Amino acid sequence: MSKESKTYKNMPKKIYIRTFGCQMNVRDSEVICGLLKKEGYKFTDEPKDADVILFNTCSVRQHAEDKVWSEIGRIARDRSGTVPVIGLIGCMAQNYKEKIFERAPNVSFVVGPSDIHKIAEIIEKVLGISKQAGTVPKKRGQSPFVKGQSPKSGDSPFFLRKIWETDGSIRPEEIYHTGFYEDKEHAYVVISEGCSNFCSYCVVPYVRGGLRNRNYKDILKEIEEAIEKGITKITLLGQNVNAYQCDGINFVTLLNSVNSLKGLKEFSFITSHPKDTSTDLFKAIADLEKLKKYLHLPVQSGSDKILKLMNRGYTRKFYLDLVDNYRKIVKGGILTTDIIVGFPNETESDFEGTRNLLEEVRFNAAYIFKYSTRPHTEATKLDDNLPLEEKEKRHGEILELQKKISKSKNER
Ligand code: SAM
Ligand code: SF4
Repeated sequence: MSKESKTYKNMPKKIYIRTFGCQMNVRDSEVICGLLKKEGYKFTDEPKDADVILFNTCSVRQHAEDKVWSEIGRIARDRSGTVPVIGLIGCMAQNYKEKIFERAPNVSFVVGPSDIHKIAEIIEKVLGISKQAGTVPKKRGQSPFVKGQSPKSGDSPFFLRKIWETDGSIRPEEIYHTGFYEDKEHAYVVISEGCSNFCSYCVVPYVRGGLRNRNYKDILKEIEEAIEKGITKITLLGQNVNAYQCDGINFVTLLNSVNSLKGLKEFSFITSHPKDTSTDLFKAIADLEKLKKYLHLPVQSGSDKILKLMNRGYTRKFYLDLVDNYRKIVKGGILTTDIIVGFPNETESDFEGTRNLLEEVRFNAAYIFKYSTRPHTEATKLDDNLPLEEKEKRHGEILELQKKISKSKNER
């Protein structure tokens, strides 16, 4: 590290981080905090006090992205005259790369999910660029501050003051071992990154890459380190945990190993994909005393036609049989799901299939989403042909139905 960058650290810069999206992003933000704290940065809960504002973003639905664009605009308005350094990280960074700068010129740097270990170095470089404001290098390649791939938009000097890192594929294992967890008792532990399922509506494989499993020894080591710090509850994280494989260790074997860790009181996992869910998993949930009797099993739709178009790899009957099996093996087990309404070509009778699946299964809770077209995905080839009012009507109906089911289950 250069002397100059040390000088910056000596007047500790304050960081504000805002997280959008799923638990994976919550964990990524913790990882970033842990890494930046190690480099001497301080954190603040107040954007107005921050020297650097980080947005850890989500691209799963258009609505999640819209929130980020409007927040960037708001921060810039609130801080006019003293605009802080703004960094956009996570799934939107990967989705739009340097195009982010065209839409949000106040953003100074963009970092994809597989490059988060570079953020401390990037912040130092950006602070260096701000210090030398006005010295726009003449040619790309001359600047010590420019990293990342060449902008497709050409040699515009505008881009030469920006940094973007979106080419990474492997996260170094060390980033998971800073020992920083937001909560004193509970920790999220990533077991796999990315996803190779390519559900036709989903942007995750494109912005987070294909499935990569962490080594099980590293996972167990991280949990042991967390337990030493006082953590007693763990949630194992992955987009499809059931597909976990490493050196002959599968997900159920991993659950057994975690269960036997001394000092751990309780653990759970998300998310399971129905096509990879087995009776062995249900037996583990029933038998392992520290494992919560809880399964989140996204069904997405109750129509075989729509499940096929979604490339989910199972039928309605397969899903219902799984549920029967789960309930037989895991007595009193909690069951939750995700539903998408308004997928292209979803007719009234397809929708009815989803509605009666909810009535038949009676989930403890369901997360219900309106279909949102995502760039890169296969479903963009289908006509997003349901009017917004119809999607909203179906969304409202399913929400109402699930509310009644959840209420009656909780009253029992
Ligand atoms: N890997 C997990 C799975 O397969 O269930 C979670 C993926 S995603 C982060 C969480 C949920 O968002 C999905 O289960 C799905 O219901 C919803 N989702 C994903 N893409 C969507 C889209 N394009 N439009 C609406 N909802 C979407
Ligand atoms: Fe997306 Fe499907 Fe992978 Fe879940 S399993 S992250 S919905 S592609």
